[in-house]
Amino acid sequence: MSITLSADKLTAAEELARLLAPGRRVVLTTHVHPDGDGIGSEVGLAHLLRAQGLEVAIANPTLTPARFGFLFKDLSGLDRSRDAVKALRSAEIIIVLDISDLGRLGMLSQTVAERGVPVACIDHHMSPGTLPDGPRYLDPTASATGELICEIALANRWPLTPAVARALYVAVVTDTGGFRFSNTHPRTLRIAAELLETGLDPEDIYLDVYANAPAGRPRLMAETLQTLVVEDGLAWVTVPPGALERHQVTVDDLDGIVEFPRSIAGVRLALLFREMSQNRVKVSLRSVGAVDVAAFAKPFGGGGHKHASGLSLPGSLPEVQARVLGAARRYLETVPRD
Ligand code: 5GP
Ligand code: MN
Repeated sequence: MSITLSADKLTAAEELARLLAPGRRVVLTTHVHPDGDGIGSEVGLAHLLRAQGLEVAIANPTLTPARFGFLFKDLSGLDRSRDAVKALRSAEIIIVLDISDLGRLGMLSQTVAERGVPVACIDHHMSPGTLPDGPRYLDPTASATGELICEIALANRWPLTPAVARALYVAVVTDTGGFRFSNTHPRTLRIAAELLETGLDPEDIYLDVYANAPAGRPRLMAETLQTLVVEDGLAWVTVPPGALERHQVTVDDLDGIVEFPRSIAGVRLALLFREMSQNRVKVSLRSVGAVDVAAFAKPFGGGGHKHASGLSLPGSLPEVQARVLGAARRYLETVPRD
């Protein structure tokens, strides 16, 4: 194996494996509006654990985006997100993937907090962590949670089948923006190579993830990009109210749009604003260089990574926009240009 693991990681991987004994009922969960890393990590780990003789289900706080439905072929009954609370109630072990905070589990937070079973966590976010006790496998330098699942499999000599590798490759490809973002480390590519060695066709995966969209996705993108505003170092776009319904798409179809304001020369901080239900607004943030959008999001109760974070605030779209843009302008003044 071309990937070496620290003694701490080996210990953590073995501790997880000890808990995951054959016959145990395990439920995997991830954050609201799961992305390719959340879903890919779940499906990859589900295959691995089923092969070890565990009973596995996935129960997410919001439904699996259609875009990742291809990962569930031949896995009928695995995704229990429609009756997630019931699935969690029957779990002997819960594994939380791609987040360390209870709050990001949405309507499942309370059930996970109160179950009283071990709650393991595998994650690559920088976070204090508010989950109930259980084994942890955490590494904020990993590109994706999928990378960590691959490490855990290698550490425990769990076989990397093509089905496992495909799901984990989806996780790594999506969280690195196709191996373009700053989280693409040499180790990331070594792990991707390990996954491809199982015989995967990367273009097939690209087509499944990115070239299987409803027509509404590019239409939504076109309409959203029309709202672009560019200021000194700052650029933002806003999803026009009602656009998701009009184009018959979901929030998952917004994935990647915020890269366009970030792509403009001189922009250091890019934002995407979207009205949620219940008078709340979701803000996605992206940055370049020294601008740290995880630090920026923190006082608003948000989080993420240095160059990619998110937050949500109560208020109308204009109110939240004025508040966040005001803070962004002040924040940018404090960060020296590279
Ligand atoms: P996105 O903008 O693609 O939804 O999220 C970018 C990054 O920010 C991801 O790592 C995601 O986990 C994190 N993130 C997005 N929204 C929130 C939020 O409301 N709270 C926290 N703590 N993190 C978020
Ligand atoms: Mn992730």
